[in-house]
Amino acid sequence: MNQPRIAEAPQERPPMLVNQQGSTGLRFEQFYIAVEQSPVATAITDALGRIEFVNQQFLAITGYSRDELLGETPALLKSGMTPNAVYAELWATLRSGKVWTGELLNRRKCGDLYWESETITPVKNQAGEITNFVATKEDITHRRQQENELRLMATAFETGQATLITDADMIIKRVNQAFSDITGYTSSEVIGKTPRMFKSGRHDKEFYRKLWQALQDTGHWQGEVWNLNKYGDTYPLWQSISAVVDENGKVCHYVSVFHNIAERKRIEFELENHAKRDHLTGVYNRRAFDHALLKCISDATNTRTPFVLLMFDIDYFKAINDKHGHDIGDEILIQLANYIKGCLRESDLLARWGGEEFAILLSNTSLDGAGVFAERLRQRIREETFCDQKVTVSVGVAQYRLGEQHNNIIGRVDKALYTAKHLGRDTVVTC
Ligand code: GH3
Ligand code: MG
Ligand code: MG
Repeated sequence: MNQPRIAEAPQERPPMLVNQQGSTGLRFEQFYIAVEQSPVATAITDALGRIEFVNQQFLAITGYSRDELLGETPALLKSGMTPNAVYAELWATLRSGKVWTGELLNRRKCGDLYWESETITPVKNQAGEITNFVATKEDITHRRQQENELRLMATAFETGQATLITDADMIIKRVNQAFSDITGYTSSEVIGKTPRMFKSGRHDKEFYRKLWQALQDTGHWQGEVWNLNKYGDTYPLWQSISAVVDENGKVCHYVSVFHNIAERKRIEFELENHAKRDHLTGVYNRRAFDHALLKCISDATNTRTPFVLLMFDIDYFKAINDKHGHDIGDEILIQLANYIKGCLRESDLLARWGGEEFAILLSNTSLDGAGVFAERLRQRIREETFCDQKVTVSVGVAQYRLGEQHNNIIGRVDKALYTAKHLGRDTVVTC
């Protein structure tokens, strides 16, 4: 190989470099040392692209020895994964005498792929012919990986759950698209502010104290929060807040991820409500009644406020069914239940005990008051028509006696109802 090997000590020394004042400057050897030790990989080829010189960093990046590279062309490093169009543009630029800069995906001697950022400068002689190419390159594989990672993270951030990031002083630094979708705020409307702007006023100081305590103790908190959106609506969300610490263990950011649970709560409420209702009349069912009765007993025990249980049964309902049909019977049950609901206070509870029998819990009521109420209700029912039919009811009324079990009061009221039937129906019996 006849190419001069610049990497070895050159035989002929170049002239001293002379500065503008005419004094002597740097020598060739000094430039040689600078290039040889440069952290930027450098290669010089002849006009045909054959490598004449490579520096230490070039060897470090590619993994080849000088002997393996000198006389070869940089095509040796090709990975086969850089599109041909890139090389076509590279050569077109260089042949036109211009500097080419770009990024190439190459392969090290060990077979690993690596990205390099490269600048190739054509060097011309006095006649304007290209005699050499000087290539400087930097291994940007790590940077590329980091960029890819960041791109991946940015995509995950933008497409993921609603997220808000603050600094340690709770100043909002970043939010994503899902955040804007839920809150109605664009990022420019919230960045620089604090999450206090979302407070709905539904939580007391104690709530926030516990939240901060958990964040301080464990670096994490999650729970249900009611916030205010841009339009002034309060909505529930499930929020998870994590403290992010720096390399010294000091909190530098808080990341809050949340989703709107309004729909979930609505469905939960509906399911719960559905489970409590009688499917025909829509009033409370037996299960809900039992629950409410136990609650009344517990309240009465704690607060000594009286409550009254009332049970009524439609008289001769079988005959109505037999005469007009079961559907009319059903309709009468629906209309009667609705009618009675309209006679009650908000705090009273009407339940279908079963069949054509209903129960009413009258909270905070004395026996006398309940007796008057039951009598008036009986009267009003007999004066009404339900599905164009006249119906009457028999009613049993009992006041809760402190200390008695729930089935005891039920037994007493049932007995009173039985007595009312026995007395000829369309009657109220109090016990
Ligand atoms: P009384 O209570 O005055 O002694 O007589 P009754 O005819 O009302 O009593 P009984 O217990 O003999 O009959 C209750 C009837 O109620 C039987 C059934 O046909 C009717 N019934 C019970 N549940 C329903 C219902 O969901 N729909 C309809 N249409 N009828 C029902
Ligand atoms: Mg009956
Ligand atoms: Mg009955």
